[in-house]
Amino acid sequence: MNWPEHMFIGALFGLILALFLQLPIIEGGLVAGMAAISALAPDIDHDSSKIRKISNITVPIAAFGFSFAATCSEGVMCTLDDMRSIIILGLAITGLYMIVITFFKPKHRGITHTIFSALVFAIFIYIFSDLNFAFAGFAGYASHLLADKHIRMI
Ligand SMILES: [Zn+2]
Repeated sequence: MNWPEHMFIGALFGLILALFLQLPIIEGGLVAGMAAISALAPDIDHDSSKIRKISNITVPIAAFGFSFAATCSEGVMCTLDDMRSIIILGLAITGLYMIVITFFKPKHRGITHTIFSALVFAIFIYIFSDLNFAFAGFAGYASHLLADKHIRMI
């Protein structure tokens, strides 16, 4: 199954979840969007997947954004020293991602295509956002496994 279909099914799951949680229209839309993106996540183990192309761009951006936020939360008070740590931390995170994805890439439809990974993914989202988005992440991720007809616990 290709990524547009996975996204569509993920969005559908997200919409059902939004209805189930009786979310207001805007939040419901965000939850559906989150589920649609999450539905692509399991194929991170595939070199030519859409999510890999997205990650290869967003991971470095997010890494530097995170480094910036973690290093000088004051924003305007960023010193030259802060800038140096931001660049080092940003490069370190990006490098780690590249190393993992290049040398420790899980085999296709291996660990990434499990309920266990869906849970880890949801917990990760919960840490950075809230419970509704975590549910959306889980729903989207799980929808991918259902669509692949590849459902394993671990
Ligand atoms: Zn898949």
